[in-house]
Amino acid sequence: MTTPATPVDPTTPAGPTSDTAGDPAAYPTADGALDDPFDDLIAANAAFAADFSLGGFDGVAKAGVAVVTCMDSRIAPLGMLGLHPGDAKIFRNPGGRVNTNALEALVLGVHLLNVNRILVVPHTRCAAATRSETELRELVGKSAGMDASWQHFHVVADQRAALIADVRAVHSHPLIPDSVAVGGFLYDVDTGLLGRVI
Ligand SMILES: [Zn+2]
Repeated sequence: MTTPATPVDPTTPAGPTSDTAGDPAAYPTADGALDDPFDDLIAANAAFAADFSLGGFDGVAKAGVAVVTCMDSRIAPLGMLGLHPGDAKIFRNPGGRVNTNALEALVLGVHLLNVNRILVVPHTRCAAATRSETELRELVGKSAGMDASWQHFHVVADQRAALIADVRAVHSHPLIPDSVAVGGFLYDVDTGLLGRVI
């Protein structure tokens, strides 16, 4: 039995994993040895699981909260709201935008997962709001060593206006009832404070 050839997507960047995909031990380290780049994380996971206490939980948002926020590593969506695992549904993307996927998640959250409060939370010094599409394409293209002008990044020209529009998009979704509270906040990555915008 032969394996059918996989069509090559010309937009897929060629990289060191192209002929080693799926081999967990095929990544060379700085000294040339083969190592798994996930080793430290898997070890940390074992420690995490050793005193795991969330088993058997049904996965609803215990605090009734859903947060749409940016992928930015400076944001701790649960911690900044005094919440813990199990309390909230979190949806993240570059810029913290309410896009089609976010709305899908929020509808599920509201109807199946106990969500009755939705926070939309972009943040200060966000690359998606401080760089132009052209700048991001140039930066990514430089890093990738290839043309990236075809890649969309959905940058935000006016962060405040985008946030107001995003909150309205949630409010006006036919499957999200008026009983659900929806707020738009800007998270300050230098103070940890949320500022209510809408
Ligand atoms: Zn961001």
